[in-house]
Amino acid sequence: MNNPVFAANWKMNHGVADAQAFMRQFLAHYARAYDRSVMFFPSALTLHAVHAAVRERPDIKLGAQNIHWEDVGAFTGENSAAIARGAGARYTLVGHSERRHVFGETDEQAGKKVAAAFRGGLTPMLCVGEKLDERERGDTVAVVVRQLRAGMAHIEKAQVASCLVAYEPVWAIGTGKTATPADAASVHAAIRAELNALGGDRADSVPILYGGSVNRGNARALLDAPEVGGLLVGGASLDADGWAAICTT
Ligand code: PEP
Repeated sequence: MNNPVFAANWKMNHGVADAQAFMRQFLAHYARAYDRSVMFFPSALTLHAVHAAVRERPDIKLGAQNIHWEDVGAFTGENSAAIARGAGARYTLVGHSERRHVFGETDEQAGKKVAAAFRGGLTPMLCVGEKLDERERGDTVAVVVRQLRAGMAHIEKAQVASCLVAYEPVWAIGTGKTATPADAASVHAAIRAELNALGGDRADSVPILYGGSVNRGNARALLDAPEVGGLLVGGASLDADGWAAICTT
């Protein structure tokens, strides 16, 4: 895949001091490259400090891990797309499996967040993926297609091409279990077909990232699988040298 995207989801890790130290070390090991994109999704409270740390490196992109679906209002503890953008984000995850399965976020809410992201000047990375029981029932494609349709339900057809999508089987996230490159390729092909149905031929350019226990050992094989346009990485993105190695895979 040309120009792969390497995206680090830090989840609830790395406060300001840790993030600054991480960035000093990472930037020393990761030279600017024009054939790939690297992005970080730090905690909302760390985003601004990370933004300052990469000021001299416009090749490094930043995103929020989550946004609210409304633009403003009485939503204690939440952040809008515009607030995230003001702190340095240009992207946002939407519908990460932990949002869906730990915090009960629905398909409908994910769809409203995708629309809110565009209104607030962020590019959404819509995360989709099946749980183990859904996989065992043979429902993987049905689940990701349902999540894609709901996720894109409140945007214009032309906006589909401006999204990113991450396929993250829930059973693979943080478990050490990874989809085989062949399994990932087959689900990514189904995602591509649905993106084309939703957004037309222009959706061919939407990067579809794979996520779920990616590490230095399996990154290359997953990236080489057809339709895998990048990697969304949690645990293995927390160490600066290790992450730099994955980003230069
Ligand atoms: C994630 O949180 O998006 C993820 C893929 O986590 P991990 O790499 O730790 O499985």
